[in-house]
Amino acid sequence: ATPVSSNFIRSIIEEDNHTGKWGGRVETRFPPEPNGYLHIGHAKSICLNFGLAHDYRGTCHLRFDDTNPEKEAQEYVDSICDSVVWLGFDWGQHQYYSSDYFDQLYAFAEYLISQKKAYVDSLTGEAIREQRGTLTSPGENSPYRDRPVAENIDLFRRMRAGEFPDGAHVLRAKIDMAAPNMNMRDPVIYRIRHIHHQRTGNKWCIYPMYDYTHCISDALENITHSLCTLEFEDHRPLYDWILDQLKEKVPCHPQQIEFARLNLTYTVMSKRKLIELVDGGYVDGWDDPRLNTLVGVRRRGYTPESIRLFIERIGVSKADSWIDMGVLEDCLREDLNACAPRRIAILKPLKLIIDNYPDDQEEACDAPNHPQKPEWEKRTVPLSKILYIEQDDFMETPPKGYFRLAPGTEVRLRYAYIIKCVQVVKNAAGEIEAVHCIYDPETKSGTAGATARKVKGNIHWLSARHAQSAEIRLYDRLFADPYPGAGNQDYKASLNPDSKETISAYVEPSLSAAEPEQRFQFERNGYFVADRIDSRPGKPVFNRAVTLRDSWGK
Ligand code: ATP
Ligand code: MG
Ligand code: MG
Repeated sequence: ATPVSSNFIRSIIEEDNHTGKWGGRVETRFPPEPNGYLHIGHAKSICLNFGLAHDYRGTCHLRFDDTNPEKEAQEYVDSICDSVVWLGFDWGQHQYYSSDYFDQLYAFAEYLISQKKAYVDSLTGEAIREQRGTLTSPGENSPYRDRPVAENIDLFRRMRAGEFPDGAHVLRAKIDMAAPNMNMRDPVIYRIRHIHHQRTGNKWCIYPMYDYTHCISDALENITHSLCTLEFEDHRPLYDWILDQLKEKVPCHPQQIEFARLNLTYTVMSKRKLIELVDGGYVDGWDDPRLNTLVGVRRRGYTPESIRLFIERIGVSKADSWIDMGVLEDCLREDLNACAPRRIAILKPLKLIIDNYPDDQEEACDAPNHPQKPEWEKRTVPLSKILYIEQDDFMETPPKGYFRLAPGTEVRLRYAYIIKCVQVVKNAAGEIEAVHCIYDPETKSGTAGATARKVKGNIHWLSARHAQSAEIRLYDRLFADPYPGAGNQDYKASLNPDSKETISAYVEPSLSAAEPEQRFQFERNGYFVADRIDSRPGKPVFNRAVTLRDSWGK
């Protein structure tokens, strides 16, 4: 379990529990709009809301904020549910939709009208915007602001009955057109939209606005602490104003608390941009392993534990800041270092022939599944005369300090023997095709002879005859720039042209049967996952989740 650190939200809850403000109750909610896939920023809100509810023995609701039917779809609802479950959270029976409250929201709006706290405005959207004023000048009252209650009720009912086209009227809260906070200048709370809703069908042709819907939904669900990001700080007076008007009607008045949103370098976080990347073909769909959507990071090989560790590690504050992508990657390394079995893969093969090894001999070499976990035991890796090693592990004219293989030098074949390079074979173009070595049969790892002689280099290898071929996708960061689009350039100009390389490589024979989403450390090469969509028995496909060390920009 991840240790829980304190934060200002926990302090508020503890103070409330101390004073008995909520009778000890803690109820939170995660309120996504089903208009896109969740991203790593949402994970912060999910971990926070579900984590607090869990720690204070409360409940966290999953509420779909579905008041914008043009952009919303069931596909998104399903994917959001999957991602929350994948992250390790459970909302039990508490799955709600803002659209469940359309009847109540409507009744409350009539009540506001009856209290002279709302009116039907018949100005155009443009005129309303023009009369709103600016930060330094007050707005103007609409000529419809003082309509009699009966006329407002009649018009509002006819709006609902479908008598008017889109845009003909809106319902506005009657607050103060001179309020310094622009959100309080008679905000629109209902608009006409003749559009089919994914859940309520054609029942409604007027839909409530976010600010009106959200606070009432929170109150109807008896939420105690309503967490949102800092952009909503200056919407809080409206949140409170609406609930104050409705205090006779709703069961409680939740407390809105704002926290800093997650900004992560080398990514974009807004749904609009993510949609653009997917629709524009810049990535291979919503679950492209380079995207920071939760389906994307999952496919990349991230574990839910690593994401939760990351969110815990970055903490919660009231000041906006950028978190370095390296922090997220380190959390994955930390988790996979502990839980991923070790295997061998040769990404860029070079043929190596052991001249003095018998042609048809083969033998098993023991390799630990995890160097720090002897209880995970060992697997065997077959050795034979012809091997593959990494091209990088051989240099014909090595610089000083190069301890891998070179003409005349010795290295250890990890888990096997010491070899010495005796010959280099090149093709007509002068490229190295193979290297010939001789091995010392007295030096097998795990035998007494192994310790007699020390060599500095230790390289991995696979028997050519036994190796399983595999497709490997080497992913890198999607953007080459820590702040994509900074300085007003198009964020797409920051795309990293080398973010994906697909290679045909070799892996240990046992990996032929890797299960989808099984994760491994490929020794000396990084952490990889069997692709959950494309990997098949006998035709494995692996994605590089993260390199062993952070070498970015170095
Ligand atoms: P976008 O602006 O990308 O469309 P959104 O904020 O409109 O995203 P919602 O579906 O409304 O997306 O978000 C659900 C919840 O997730 C909200 O409570 C929101 O505050 C939170 N959230 C969204 N992005 C972040 C982020 N980057 N960091 C922390 N919380 C976030
Ligand atoms: Mg939104
Ligand atoms: Mg937003």
